[in-house]
Amino acid sequence: MIHGEALTLTGKPSAAAGTSWPWSSAVEFRREVPPWRRLTQQAWIPDRIPAPAAPRSRGVSKLRRRDSKPEMAVRRLLYARGLRYRVCFRVPGQRRRTIDIAFVGARLAVYIDGCFWHGCPEHAHLPKVNAGWWTRKIAMNQARDAAANGQLAGLGWTVLRFWEHEDPEDVVRQVVATFESARTRRPASTR
Ligand SMILES: [Zn+2]
Repeated sequence: MIHGEALTLTGKPSAAAGTSWPWSSAVEFRREVPPWRRLTQQAWIPDRIPAPAAPRSRGVSKLRRRDSKPEMAVRRLLYARGLRYRVCFRVPGQRRRTIDIAFVGARLAVYIDGCFWHGCPEHAHLPKVNAGWWTRKIAMNQARDAAANGQLAGLGWTVLRFWEHEDPEDVVRQVVATFESARTRRPASTR
């Protein structure tokens, strides 16, 4: 009974099919590649890559991904201008992707990308520890940014991306200008 189960799970031809598969080999095969492992390997999609074995450097662990200081500065200025927005707004139809600052009525998405996480050409310096892992990680983030841009554009959204090193006043000027033009372009859809 147990041997029979092993044969079914590993996908080897059963004895009933006419093949004289040795019982002992079948059991060994199961031990080498357990069926659950093969299943999880097939089902696993690398949306995230595993963390590196070595601990992160203190500099990296200090970097925040949400509500960063530059983003907060931009948000405060926008709020002071009387603009209202949603924070961490989910990209329509996406479970994990969010918009940093979303003007839903105007369909305007604003991102304040961290220089480190998104690979700013001026400030992205990789940690020496696990440099290869970080290179892949940041390349994946950039690919995800590009995918989000495409998805939002397909849904009729305007996407503005800024680096966190940019002057918040400049950022807000551009956001306000785009917001106004988006509003005049679509007067029916806003409020
Ligand atoms: Zn930068």
